Amino acid sequence: MLENLSERLQGIFSGLRSKGRLTEEDINAAMREIRLALLEADVNFKVVKVFVARTKERCLSSEVLDSLTPAQNVVKIVLDELTELLGRTDSRLVLGSRIPNVIMLVGLQGSGKTTAAAKLAYRLKQENHSPLLIAGDVYRPAAADQLQTLGDEIGVRVYRGDGRDPVAIAKEGVQDAIDNLRDVVIIDTAGRLHVDEDMMAEAAAIKEAVKPDQILMVVDAMTGQDVVNVVEAFADSVDFDGVIMSKMDGDARGGGALSIREVTGKPIKFISSGEKPDSLEVFHPDRMAKRILG
Ligand code: GDP
Repeated sequence: MLENLSERLQGIFSGLRSKGRLTEEDINAAMREIRLALLEADVNFKVVKVFVARTKERCLSSEVLDSLTPAQNVVKIVLDELTELLGRTDSRLVLGSRIPNVIMLVGLQGSGKTTAAAKLAYRLKQENHSPLLIAGDVYRPAAADQLQTLGDEIGVRVYRGDGRDPVAIAKEGVQDAIDNLRDVVIIDTAGRLHVDEDMMAEAAAIKEAVKPDQILMVVDAMTGQDVVNVVEAFADSVDFDGVIMSKMDGDARGGGALSIREVTGKPIKFISSGEKPDSLEVFHPDRMAKRILG
């Protein structure tokens, strides 16, 4: 993920290093190249604009231009601004005191919700919680079976209500968690291929019925430019507290991942990079920024 962007940035930085002292024109040229590299990686154009403006202003200061190692300072500033773009600090999953704690997952169909639900359950189980998975995606025929298979694999109970009203299933699932002494509930909800009113209305109805402690939106890192419209639509209608970025192991441009925090103000909490239950990692903005810069 984002390897092309990494390579491009490294190329730009080595060009700057080879120059020794840097002029204003050198910085401007480098910023133009960075802008292009980000756009080609599918970072949202508004985000690119803000990022480049902030970075350029700092790089054009006399501290950088007059320093003995200007290229190094430029790299530091880009790293710092990239970390800022990604959210600066880690945003861990904090469970409230309510038992069971209810986590609801939303997102488009195919974004990786069902997989992420199981990964989250696995993670919570590792942390000595006793999660329950609720199969709330009643439209995609195989979704409940898929969740059941994943639940069996990781040894987590799955509540399913095959083909019935997802609001009722969510409510009954929470009751099932109480009856079976589960302390965290993860609700997998239905997504559609595109943002539509029915999907939002259903998510809102589940939200209203079970009052989740937090809602996490699962976003496919390979969505491209459209990711911004999708997350904005969810933020406007059901709202959510954080993002699980899935498919970070993909080879696509992945710039959507870099845009979300700036556009929605919502933190990325986890990244998922594979199909195995243990491939859900806490998202660290600084590590990600360092990885991109190489
Ligand atoms: P849902 O429709 O949102 O519930 O999406 P699914 O959880 O069914 O995921 C859609 C497809 O993406 C499935 O084939 C998953 O195995 C795959 N998938 C989910 N997360 C990841 C990931 O992090 N990496 C990869 N490579 N594939 C993933």
